Amino acid sequence: MRVPVFCFLLPMITAPAFGWGCDGHQIIALMARAQLKPQVSAALDKILLGDPISPQLSRFCRDRPPDILADVATWADDVRNQEGNGEWHFVDIPRTVTKPPPGLNLAPWCGNALDVKTLCVTAALQLQLTILKSPASSAAERGRALRYIVHLVEDVHQPLHAADNNDSGGNCTVMTFFSEPRPTNLHSVWDSRLIAHDQADRKQNQSEYATGLAAEFARKQKSWAKDASDPERWAWESHVVALKVAYGGLSPQIAVEQSGGENCDAERAKTEALKITLGDDYSKRSIPDVREQLAKSAARLASLLNRTL
Ligand SMILES: [Zn+2]
Repeated sequence: MRVPVFCFLLPMITAPAFGWGCDGHQIIALMARAQLKPQVSAALDKILLGDPISPQLSRFCRDRPPDILADVATWADDVRNQEGNGEWHFVDIPRTVTKPPPGLNLAPWCGNALDVKTLCVTAALQLQLTILKSPASSAAERGRALRYIVHLVEDVHQPLHAADNNDSGGNCTVMTFFSEPRPTNLHSVWDSRLIAHDQADRKQNQSEYATGLAAEFARKQKSWAKDASDPERWAWESHVVALKVAYGGLSPQIAVEQSGGENCDAERAKTEALKITLGDDYSKRSIPDVREQLAKSAARLASLLNRTL
């Protein structure tokens, strides 16, 4: 799911596809904050305030809630180039993989354990948890690790961060979203467009949207909080949503492809020819899963932090 550099140069790509967009990341963080134990909430603030984000850093999300947890949630995308962390945001489980691998072992799609920069999202998350927990870590290292943990728990719940159809996780699969004048791509639809569409439909601002999600999923939150230490399972659940809904709901269908021969231009040309337009049918089918993935991510992030800090 590498974001091809040349995609930024194409006028048809309207926003970089980094994971959930600003709203998705911030909504999850706001929901997670409400589920933190008071002492954990205070400990988290102390760690984050102990290693503030440089005011010189250019932030992609211009509107950031005052809650520091929501503010730091998008930091890992902002430092993607300077930290070379591009591989950490996803695990490209091919669309051809339709059954869970034995023991949910994602190692075949998880980079080289000896080369930190190649790690996939689940392994990078474990690495950052180790740094956060280590008594040998400095305040700066703990702050940085915590910012990564928040972001990566969120990213792994975006279905197209755990699936690939030889299209960089949907980045190279072209379509039109409702009546938008310019084409976009499937990854961007799941990062931000479906959330924005649902928010507009409900006429809710970001904080109302988070509150609405928390109310809708209040019962399930407790059971999700119990599996707070199983990122491979989270990734597999995301993969299943990608297969069934993100890719599976497209009309016309796009062919299932083997990963590995990525050529974004070729994939774009192929899918452009299909003239896929996503409208009410697709959004009605997808939005319940988008909402559930956001709520799941918040419950698991909060539970992980409650257990770790
Ligand atoms: Zn990301």
